[in-house]
Amino acid sequence: MKGLCYLDNNAGTALAPNVLDAMLPYLKQQQGNPSSSHRFGRLAKTAIENSRRQVADLVNVSPSQVIFTSGGTESNNQVFSGLAQQYQTGNVLLSSVEHPSVLEPARELSKAGFNVEELQVDTDGVVKVNHLADAINEQTRLVSVMWANNETGVIQDITALTAVCNDKQVLFHCDAVQAIGKEFVDFSAAGVQLMSLSAHKFGGPKGIGALITKKGLNWPALILGGGQEAGFRSGTENVPAIIGIGAAAVEAKSSLSHYQKHCRSLRDLFEKRLLEMGSVTIFAQHAKRLANTIFFSLAGFDAETLLMALDRQNFSVSSGSACGTGQQTPSYVLTAMGVDDITAQGAIRVSISLQTTVEEIECLANVLKKEASRFQNLMNR
Ligand code: PLP
Repeated sequence: MKGLCYLDNNAGTALAPNVLDAMLPYLKQQQGNPSSSHRFGRLAKTAIENSRRQVADLVNVSPSQVIFTSGGTESNNQVFSGLAQQYQTGNVLLSSVEHPSVLEPARELSKAGFNVEELQVDTDGVVKVNHLADAINEQTRLVSVMWANNETGVIQDITALTAVCNDKQVLFHCDAVQAIGKEFVDFSAAGVQLMSLSAHKFGGPKGIGALITKKGLNWPALILGGGQEAGFRSGTENVPAIIGIGAAAVEAKSSLSHYQKHCRSLRDLFEKRLLEMGSVTIFAQHAKRLANTIFFSLAGFDAETLLMALDRQNFSVSSGSACGTGQQTPSYVLTAMGVDDITAQGAIRVSISLQTTVEEIECLANVLKKEASRFQNLMNR
């Protein structure tokens, strides 16, 4: 295999075809501020509204339901800051495997007097609908459960969860950052009231995302100022990035079934090779997962050591452990699924894209096989 092999697409994707070309005029010569009433301003404003339609079309909502933000983290933060603005107290329920951009603002709410409760997941990383039904009470203001997990790729049964919430008239927020472009996501059919998305996870540029809101919800702003985005998110719009997310949305919609087919066949091939090696744990192997994601652990391996060994051989993958003060802690997602610390500390995530080839997957499997037998030889000495 020649060159570098990028297999960390849940962290960030390459720009999809046409995205850069769509953005370039707004980086080069279209310098107008969309709030200006002259022709440069009007041109930027029209382009933004076109992009809003494209994003709306991807998730089946009206353009007025799309608020552009700086990405998934900001969208998630707006959900929790908005809740605090609307209510002084109450209960919030979220799954124990949410992204830190949900967990951290929720923790801030608990400092402000809210009661924040985590819904446990089963050994497949799935939130049980009956657990949610049991946990909701009169004080529950919001439930937040992600569409798909960034580490395991596990997909939640969002429609079943929202059915419970809608029945009890409780707001439901879904962090769909990892699902957009990988799964068919229909905001309206899913029955959610708030949804976060981020362009750089589906072929758009970094630093742009959206908060999708149910019609008439009028969710309070996180950032105040000049009243852009109909007052729901102030600040001069990042026009090139907004054009980028629109172009990426068009591409994601048209390539979805091809994407899923391509990624699933490579993922299945890689899993087959891993299982042939033995001594491997594939997390949530039998759960409904994103077609592009494999999270696994090779017995005896520490993830950071393996990740660096793979990096030296030109493979860029991710580990599931957080390395803070030089000390590695196992992935909290795996801990929540009941995985023991030693297995969790070896967790490696491979996330495939449309650019990934069979040759790359076979090469990666061979490299892992060699590393595993080298390790066995050392142990047998
Ligand atoms: N939510 C999930 C599930 C994610 O995977 C990420 C990024 O990894 C985010 C939110 C944050 O998105 P952004 O990088 O756009 O802030």
